[in-house]
Amino acid sequence: MKIEGASLQRTLKNRGYRITRQRQVVLEVLRSTNTHPDAHWIYQRVRRRMPQVSLGTIYRTLGVLKETGLIQELSYGSSFSRYDGTPENHYHIGCIRCGKVADVDLPLLRTLEKRIKPREDFKVTGHRLEFSGICGACQ
Ligand code: ZN
Ligand code: MN
Repeated sequence: MKIEGASLQRTLKNRGYRITRQRQVVLEVLRSTNTHPDAHWIYQRVRRRMPQVSLGTIYRTLGVLKETGLIQELSYGSSFSRYDGTPENHYHIGCIRCGKVADVDLPLLRTLEKRIKPREDFKVTGHRLEFSGICGACQ
C-alpha cells in the first residue's frame, strides 16, 4: 500500500502534526521494504538522505507516525520493536532462529473477535495473530 504525499499531509494535519521532511523520509524508507525493520535499520537508511539525523529523532518520528496510524509498531516482548509501513491489521510469521518477520497471506479473520465469549470487563477492539516457524535461510 502506498500513501501519497497529499494523503500523508492530510493525515498528519488532521491530528495536529506538521509534515516535515524527516517524517516524509522515514515513512518512505519504511514503505520501501517488507522486512519489518527495527529503528536502527531505519536510522541507517534515513541517514543516507539526511546525514544529520539522530537515532533519537528516528524514534520520535516513528512514535508520531505510529500515533497517527500511518505505521504499525510490532513489539516482541522485551526485545526491540520492529516497524511495519502497512497500517492495516495483517498477520505475520516470525523465524524462531533468526527473528526474520514476514507477512502472511491470510485474510483478516474478522469473525474471530466475535467468537470469544462476551465478558463484562472487556470490550473487544482488535486482535493480533502471530505465526512462528523456521525461515528458508535457517532451514
Ligand atoms: Zn531464519
Ligand atoms: Mn507486515
